[in-house]
Amino acid sequence: MLKPRLSADFRFGLMVVFGGLAVVAITPFVVYRFATGNHLAAVIDIGIQVAIVSIVAYAWRSGNMDRAGLLAAMCMSGACVAVGLVAGLAGALWLYPVLVANFLLTSRGPAIVISAAAVGTLAFSEGLGGWPTFGSFAVSAMLLCGFAYLFSSHSDEQRRRLERLAGHDPLTGALNRRGMQRELEAAIEAGRRDVPCALAVLDLDHFKQVNDRHGHQAGDAVLVRFAEVVEAATRRSDRLFRTGGEEFVLLLPGAEADILAHVGSILVRTVAAEVRCGDDPVTVSVGITPLLRGDDAIRWLRRADRAMYRAKRDGRNRVVVDPGEAGTQPPGGDRPR
Ligand code: GH3
Ligand code: MG
Ligand code: MG
Repeated sequence: MLKPRLSADFRFGLMVVFGGLAVVAITPFVVYRFATGNHLAAVIDIGIQVAIVSIVAYAWRSGNMDRAGLLAAMCMSGACVAVGLVAGLAGALWLYPVLVANFLLTSRGPAIVISAAAVGTLAFSEGLGGWPTFGSFAVSAMLLCGFAYLFSSHSDEQRRRLERLAGHDPLTGALNRRGMQRELEAAIEAGRRDVPCALAVLDLDHFKQVNDRHGHQAGDAVLVRFAEVVEAATRRSDRLFRTGGEEFVLLLPGAEADILAHVGSILVRTVAAEVRCGDDPVTVSVGITPLLRGDDAIRWLRRADRAMYRAKRDGRNRVVVDPGEAGTQPPGGDRPR
């Protein structure tokens, strides 16, 4: 249970490792401070250990990493300030790793505020003993925050790019299969609350001939243009997925069954009018079907797929709507090859 969570959730992993090390590292100081009669510092150390363990437990149970990360940053920074105030520079040095952790545990805005408050409080405390130490501490801590800020914004940008790459088809920019299953499941779930939805399978007609006549690169450009045209002809909430070479799936949340023929024919006409390869128009065959009670993703997709193949058999460049009622199911079993 813990191992998969540690590798899947970076912030939780960081919290467990950082928190665990902090609890272990603080223990000798608790013993030392009790032994030397500094009971206040020892009690503060124990309080920090309890707070760290509580926050990790909260993160584990609730899964709310935003809140747990913010709490951890506040708690560890506050702890460093408390120890710094009691123990002087020896305590303040603990703030350095915590400043870096702040930018990894919580978002940059709160991290700046928490870190600046901690550095400011310690820098002006008497324990640091005058100007040279005060100046060195404040400047070095602020430099560290600056580096942590840059590192955090750079890695956020990389993560965003990776997420985009993982979820999108690099050629057309449409979504890829990876996210489709999740979106279909969400639509089916919403369907249980009577939110309508429809699914269309779109397959470009005679695309092999497009490649044969104009070359693969021109074929690629057609796919890019096709995705642009479909995106422009649909609503913002509609989701276009590229599921195969020249095959796409369009999810239409909120679409009522009685408008599907209209929506499909607009798509077919718009593609025929706006997608070309040289002088040749490019057309698409569309199968479209509403979400029905009792559908799972496979059944729903298969119904749309069969409707698309019926559009192919009926002459291409057209839409076939499968309303999914008894007797209207297209003949034939599996999709033809
Ligand atoms: P149909 O109307 O029956 O769908 O005929 P089709 O020629 O479109 O279908 P077929 O399945 O025979 O051929 C699909 C072609 O799509 C074959 C393949 O070369 C081409 N294709 C698949 N992926 C890509 C791609 O990424 N870029 C290009 N340019 N062509 C692709
Ligand atoms: Mg095709
Ligand atoms: Mg195909």
